Amino acid sequence: MADTAERVYLDHNATTPVRPEALEAMLPFLTERYGNASSIHAFGREARTAVETARLALAAALGCDPAEVVFTGSGTEADNQAIKGVAFASRERGDHLITTKIEHHAVLHSVEYLVKYHGYRASYLGVDGRGQVDPAELERSITDRTVLVSVMHANNETGTVQPLEEIAAICQARGVTLHSDAVQSFGKLPLDLRRLPGVSLLSLSGHKIYAPKGAGALFVRKGVRLHPLVHGGGHERHRRAGTENVAGIAALAAAAGLAAREREAEQPRIAALRDRLWAGITARIAAVHRNGDPQRCLANTLNASFEYIEGESILLSLDMKGIAASSGSACTSGSLEPSHVLMAMGMPVELAHGSVRFSLGRGTTEAQIDRTVDALAEAVARLREMSPLSPGRSCAGAGGVKPS
Ligand code: PLP
Repeated sequence: MADTAERVYLDHNATTPVRPEALEAMLPFLTERYGNASSIHAFGREARTAVETARLALAAALGCDPAEVVFTGSGTEADNQAIKGVAFASRERGDHLITTKIEHHAVLHSVEYLVKYHGYRASYLGVDGRGQVDPAELERSITDRTVLVSVMHANNETGTVQPLEEIAAICQARGVTLHSDAVQSFGKLPLDLRRLPGVSLLSLSGHKIYAPKGAGALFVRKGVRLHPLVHGGGHERHRRAGTENVAGIAALAAAAGLAAREREAEQPRIAALRDRLWAGITARIAAVHRNGDPQRCLANTLNASFEYIEGESILLSLDMKGIAASSGSACTSGSLEPSHVLMAMGMPVELAHGSVRFSLGRGTTEAQIDRTVDALAEAVARLREMSPLSPGRSCAGAGGVKPS
């Protein structure tokens, strides 16, 4: 096993390290400024100031009013709050929800819960082979009983970016509330909620943008009716009870501001590394397919399927060499089910099983990419040599690996 200094982390869609500036922003609120933001004394006022300053900064990054930002404990909580909160608040107006087949389980399971236990009906939009939703299908699916549409901005497994502007315009024209899970896109793609008036709610999460785990946020446009899910004190304008995670919130806002400032320089750098990875893979390995939309895609994400072998086996081989990647989302890895996202894209089960997701980040370097390509070429050749599925595996050069 490689030691820490040599490890290569290509799983930034699962989580990111806390960046030094975010750590610096949060530390005072774990040590000397530990007040409860609801307390009226000086300790409390310091904490309250930190929370409200963070709210202002996050609102600036989103292009919204600070009063429209609700801090949550995670992206999962933001998704749950948006979907159940809108559904419960709109019960008398309708019972129909629309989402897509490729959402994160935080969205899919929230919708399933409403269907199973609260009598709602749900429609699931399909996607094409690149993972794109068809806005015309959304248009056809909306009925006068539809109370919520939830379509993610960018997919966590493939990086495919949805046509959010078009989707938002449809929802606005039809008077339907739209939620978008922007947990993966926030900080990576330009986003200005002033230019997307059809987006009523939007989820984000700190630990995907180099802030710590345990801090997320939900944008709730003014006028959107929302039932709170967590009851208690009057925190977050009665929309989310619970003593604020002051340190996490301060770090989330610091990280969001930095991501916005650095995006224009950082995203092309990461895209170039992602392209180098794909070029290296295709130069050295045969029978490999890129999954997702190569044009409308997050700069940091590369999802590829390797024929004849299991993604899990590749991951284990890479892990032995200190290289971390993922098969599907972190939440589903470990299960033997093929990725619901790849299946929705119409991929054959065997290919879906052979998929690996590489997600790059701030710390990724060319040297790391080259090491990953070397390790992959070696692992794929060895695994294909052993795979009963490989054609002509007993022949010389079996496994379809190109000579380097
Ligand atoms: N939505 C998407 C698209 C995600 O990728 C994730 C996490 O992987 C979540 C929601 C959940 O966010 P959190 O880990 O903050 O609960």
